[in-house]
Order: sequence, then C-alpha cells, then structure tokens
Amino acid sequence: MKCELCNTRAASIKRPKNQMAVCKDCFYLVFEEEIHHTIVSNQLFQPGERVAVAASGGKDSTVLAHVMTTLNKRYDYGLELQLLSVDEGITGYRDDSLETVKLNQKTYDVPLTIVSYKDLYGWTMDQIVKVIGLTNNCTFCGVFRRQALDRGAMLIKADKIVTGHNADDIAETVYMNILRGDFFRLHKCVEIMTGKGDALPRCKPFKYTYEKEIVMYAHFKKLDYFSTECIYSPNAYRGYVRELIKDLEKIRPSIIIDIIHSGESIKIDTTNVSFPKKMNCI
Ligand code: SF4
Ligand code: ZN
Repeated sequence: MKCELCNTRAASIKRPKNQMAVCKDCFYLVFEEEIHHTIVSNQLFQPGERVAVAASGGKDSTVLAHVMTTLNKRYDYGLELQLLSVDEGITGYRDDSLETVKLNQKTYDVPLTIVSYKDLYGWTMDQIVKVIGLTNNCTFCGVFRRQALDRGAMLIKADKIVTGHNADDIAETVYMNILRGDFFRLHKCVEIMTGKGDALPRCKPFKYTYEKEIVMYAHFKKLDYFSTECIYSPNAYRGYVRELIKDLEKIRPSIIIDIIHSGESIKIDTTNVSFPKKMNCI
C-alpha cells in the first residue's frame, strides 16, 4: 500500500489517531507539524523565553525534548531550552531513568539541572514509603514533584515549564474528574497552559498527541528512553479508566480527542456551585 500522504513511498505505519496509512518520513513530519500547530495556535511561547523541559527519561519527556529542540531550530522559536529533572529518591527506578536524561542532555546539547526531594525536603520517596507504607504514594509524591519542578525552574530562572502530558493522560484525567464530579479540576485539566498570570506557567504541547504515536516516534527514531514503571505507581483508579478508554478506542479511534473536546466544551452553570477556595498550605 502506498503512503496516503506522499503517494510515492510504501506505507509502513497506520496512524492510531486517524487510521491513515503513511510512510515513516511522512509520519515524522505530520507528527512534528501537528505539535508545531498546537504550539503556534495556542501561542505557548514568546521569543527569548527560557523554557524548562521537564525530563524524566521516559518516552513522553524524551520525545518532548527531541521535538522541542527540532521545532525550535526549524521554526526559529528563539527559545532557550533547558532540561529539568526531579530526583524523587526511588532506588532502581529514578536513579536509572536519570541516566537516560543525562544521555539526552549530551544528544541535544542543552543544560540539565536535577533537583532532588532529599535536598529540597530532607526526605527521599524511599524513606517516605518506609513510614507511610505502600498506599497513596502518588498523592504525596505528586505534590512534592509539582513543587520540586517549580523550585527547579525558579533556580534556573525559567519563564515557563513544558511537560510531556499527552492526549491519553488528559483524556483519562477528564474521565476521572467527570466520574468524581470534580468540575473544578475538569476545567483545569484541559487547559493547555495553566498558571497563565503566574510567575511560572506550565504548558502541554502534547495535549492532542496520542501516546501510541509518541511510542512509535520514539521507536522509529531510535530515541533513548527508559520504560520501566515506577515501583510505587499502582494507581488502580486511573488504571481502570485507562482500560475503559482503550476498549472504547477499539470501536472509535477518535475517542481520546473526543473526550478532551468534551472536557473543553462542558460549561457549568456556576450560580449554585461553589468552587473550592484557594488556600495557603498550613
Ligand atoms: Fe511518584 Fe507516583 Fe510518579 Fe512514582 S508514579 S514517581 S510515586 S508520582
Ligand atoms: Zn509518505
């Protein structure tokens, strides 16, 4: 079968996003161009900004570093890109994945800063788990991680943080928030840029990028990434939602984007709704 885009080369990939049969070269191009379109149409960056690329060594952040450096050069965004990693202190997981980030740093020739829970809070995740046991680990770790990224970004005087959250992650979060009736978070989770007026906005250039395509891109481009799951990660609830979406995807490939669009379109009559007030940490 010929590639449906160039009509010249043999098709070797069926795009999970729209089932189009394409050759590798056309796949790379449309994959990158769609992300470029997301960046430009949402005005994610301004020339001259220093952007911290949250890098964990996993597939999403590795592809993010690759695509951001590629597009920054190709379209002359004028961004100063830096890699920023958080070391949660999880033996056998994060120490290994950070080695991948160090490899990426050499490949893309951008500065790398690593901030650790141990230095910032005096505790590693391994020590926290010893105290609290193997439950709710992500609840603690998620809060620490968020703040660690902010502190790291402030340290390197970044203007923005980009994260590798992909369309599947966002669709799962939309679904979870609907199931929980958490409309405050539902609105927030579909925003492509959060904290717009704050000192450190966060952007998600992969908001409409399918996870399967990120894996394909990393695989065909032979990018170095770390694919082991965190040992404290079993997040049963998200896992069920993920399975549910995967089942729906079998009969309707556009379901991931459909769910994101639903999250964007749902409007709430706020007359009788009280949203949680923002409070300071006690
Ligand atoms: Fe932390 Fe959970 Fe991520 Fe592991 S999976 S690094 S515990 S947030
Ligand atoms: Zn082609």
